[in-house]
Amino acid sequence: MANLVTNVQAVAKEHPEEVAVSFRGRETTYEEFWARTGQFAAGLADRGVGEGDRVAVYLPNLPQFVTAFHGTLRAGGVVVPMNPQYKSREIRHLLSDSEAQVVVTLSDLVPFVEEVRDDTDVEHVVTVGEEADAGTDFEAFLGDDHEFEVVDCADDDVAVQPYTSGTTGQPKGVQLTHNNLASNADTAAGLVPDGIRPDDKQLGVLPLFHIYGMTVVMNATLFNGGAYYPLPEWEAQEAVSLIEDERLTLMHGVPAMYNDIINQPDAEEFDLSSLRLAGVGGSGIPIEVLRRFEELYDVKVYEGYGLTETSPVTHFNSPEQGRRVGSIGKSLPGVDAKIVDSDFEERPRVAEGPVDEEEVDLDEITGELVVSGPNVMKGYSGLPEANEEAFTEVDGTRWFHTGDIGYWDEDDFFYVVDREKHMINTAGYNVYPREIEELLFEHEAVADAAVVGIPDDRRGETVKAFVVPVPDADVTPEEIKQFCLDNLAEYKHPREVEFVEELPRTTTGKVQKFELRDRETEAAE
Ligand code: ATP
Repeated sequence: MANLVTNVQAVAKEHPEEVAVSFRGRETTYEEFWARTGQFAAGLADRGVGEGDRVAVYLPNLPQFVTAFHGTLRAGGVVVPMNPQYKSREIRHLLSDSEAQVVVTLSDLVPFVEEVRDDTDVEHVVTVGEEADAGTDFEAFLGDDHEFEVVDCADDDVAVQPYTSGTTGQPKGVQLTHNNLASNADTAAGLVPDGIRPDDKQLGVLPLFHIYGMTVVMNATLFNGGAYYPLPEWEAQEAVSLIEDERLTLMHGVPAMYNDIINQPDAEEFDLSSLRLAGVGGSGIPIEVLRRFEELYDVKVYEGYGLTETSPVTHFNSPEQGRRVGSIGKSLPGVDAKIVDSDFEERPRVAEGPVDEEEVDLDEITGELVVSGPNVMKGYSGLPEANEEAFTEVDGTRWFHTGDIGYWDEDDFFYVVDREKHMINTAGYNVYPREIEELLFEHEAVADAAVVGIPDDRRGETVKAFVVPVPDADVTPEEIKQFCLDNLAEYKHPREVEFVEELPRTTTGKVQKFELRDRETEAAE
């Protein structure tokens, strides 16, 4: 196999006039796009940056992100995507650990880079936007050679090095190879009915620095000749208008985005009929949110599951395989998965899922989801101990520990119950917050909800729910608590319900549960 960027090269040759990127009315064809990635690669080469060198891309969803990404790969370099919401404190570790020589960023973010520059190997700062005090403007950075020859790479050369979000410690650099990403993009695109086609138009609301948004757009869409419509910031009304106006055909989002759309005051008026596929992942989508979206717009939502470390998709609840709502689907072709106990023994399968969590003792059937396949990362960069913990090798197969608790059924469908680190242990009982969150979403007065375990002297931990009520709802926390008590075993019901205006979320829509827990601990002190 060669450099994964050759997939785009092939599309540019076959469909030069098709649109690759469309941003605020400005369309870039594949021919133009390929030429610009060549110029970016040439710009790097002119400055002695090439094979194996790290280029940090610290940008929101803009056409320049896509150019820098593919241009870096074309030059044989490694892309280090960074969240544009990060400040200097957060980028210091990423830049120094990755040894990035180049940073491509917004002019507004240059001060953050300058602040930490002395602790890093950064030699060139490339800026997008207004003229900045330091750095070279993106256009001025480009070289002349738009036919820059793609640098050949080996299958297991690292192509992209994203960082974990660091919710459990220092962020770790995840080494994803050309083969990891190419194989996953190929398999995942094959699960869309009729594949991804040149007439497809993809909504670009997932952040490109995160693996989900990155592969959906960079690899899956652009490898197949589709067009990418980026939006730099998530705004439900704007995203809906873009789908309506441009008749977009593909959408991928995190559950919070689907929830935002259905909670818009004029949600019933939206026309999303142009969508032929809506994908969701990143965290489990509450079943009520999925149902409501499907009911309103007559578009099926297919859930996928994955991690940064698995490039990312390992499971997809695909139309062809007969989707089961509540499941993450079957593992992708070529990906092996199983549910194991702490001795790495397989857990028994249930006959057909999803199970009714009230009727089954989850501790009897659940275990950790482990996966193996060509999409599993090479390893964390420079962290032998973390790698030791992340993998178990059995008969020559390297199994990756996802840290997620789930179960499987006899038809090979998998179900994620929750993240291991989210599990609440209250007076010796295991409680999975997601079960309670699913129930809360069934209540008509609940717009958003998150459940966490908070320290408790008597029970170890106790269950607390943070609820965002729908505007003007006539409901009290006591009523919500009673609703849970009426529908759940007593030990699971939230002993405390707090109404909040909104939940703290990451840019990828995940509730920052550690922040909710910290708030509690601080309040108790
Ligand atoms: P960190 O690992 O540092 O906390 P992160 O959560 O941002 O960072 P990602 O690689 O983005 O890391 O997320 C992977 C996790 O997202 C999975 O382990 C799983 O918990 C969750 N996830 C992804 N898709 C789904 C899904 N469909 N259902 C449930 N959980 C999901």
